[in-house]
Amino acid sequence: MSADPNSTTRINSKIIAANWKMNGSEELLKEFSEFEVTKGNDVIMCLPFTLLDLANTLLPNFIKIGAQNCSEEDKGAFTGEVSASMLRERNVSYVIVGHSERRTLFRETDSTVFRKVQLALKNGIIPIVCIGETLLEKKKKKTFEVLDRQIEGSISKIETPVQLIVAYEPVWAIGTGLTPNINEIEETHFHIKQKLGEFFDFYIPILYGGSANSENCDEIISVPHVSGLLVGGASLEKRHFAKICNC
Ligand code: PEP
Repeated sequence: MSADPNSTTRINSKIIAANWKMNGSEELLKEFSEFEVTKGNDVIMCLPFTLLDLANTLLPNFIKIGAQNCSEEDKGAFTGEVSASMLRERNVSYVIVGHSERRTLFRETDSTVFRKVQLALKNGIIPIVCIGETLLEKKKKKTFEVLDRQIEGSISKIETPVQLIVAYEPVWAIGTGLTPNINEIEETHFHIKQKLGEFFDFYIPILYGGSANSENCDEIISVPHVSGLLVGGASLEKRHFAKICNC
């Protein structure tokens, strides 16, 4: 995968990751069993826990399977939680951590996210760490400050080298149909790249997420420093997602 710190050969291919959130069903997943992609992009589908086993048997081999969360604890009396080692047993290769919905609705802090990142890595799962500013923070021109804080709190102390993906997801763009303009995306991804460079000396893909769809994917994906896309709503429709994977 492009996330391999030792890999330089596939840096030019893009990573397209789907985030189904709490959506989907066996019926919908079955539609993706015939999924085809002609471009050499890496495709990851981050699914609800309940669909992971079926995804292993149904999805074409080139699609890597991801989860959308893992526990910040290794094991024990944490009713309802799912650990990173349990995900590994289900053949999960990626896990989204620190999504803004989890940060907001489930009160996850940067240190919670960091613990999840560590446990994912310990279990051989590549974390897709989400960072991004709210609309208020953007209006107050605090975007870079917020991103720096999130990187410092949830990523910077990782012991290297590791496989890691960062997803820049402006909170105000998620599920709203709004996106930053192309210059803003470039500027922000460049900033994130520089910030990550303060801590890591290997390649870390930076995905863009937030209302990416089959209409805007070509433009966004060709922005410098954008390594791919994290796609929510538009990944639930096979035809649209296929088009995005072929960007
Ligand atoms: C997301 O929630 O990760 C996301 C990118 O959502 P959407 O594409 O629907 O904005």
